[in-house]
Amino acid sequence: MKYRCQICDRDIDDFVSIAHIKAEEYILKLIRRDHPEWKEDKETCHKCVDYYRKLVKENEI
Ligand SMILES: [Zn+2]
Repeated sequence: MKYRCQICDRDIDDFVSIAHIKAEEYILKLIRRDHPEWKEDKETCHKCVDYYRKLVKENEI
């Protein structure tokens, strides 16, 4: 099954349920800042989640 990542707009085979990163509120905050239309219950791919996770780590937000 294919999903469309709502952040990078690519078709992906697997997706990260937001449940996986639910504990990481600061990541959600960053995504919402860059993508106001982003929805927690919709598909987001690993790459995008990793991108924001890294961003947070590097900047120690
Ligand atoms: Zn993506």
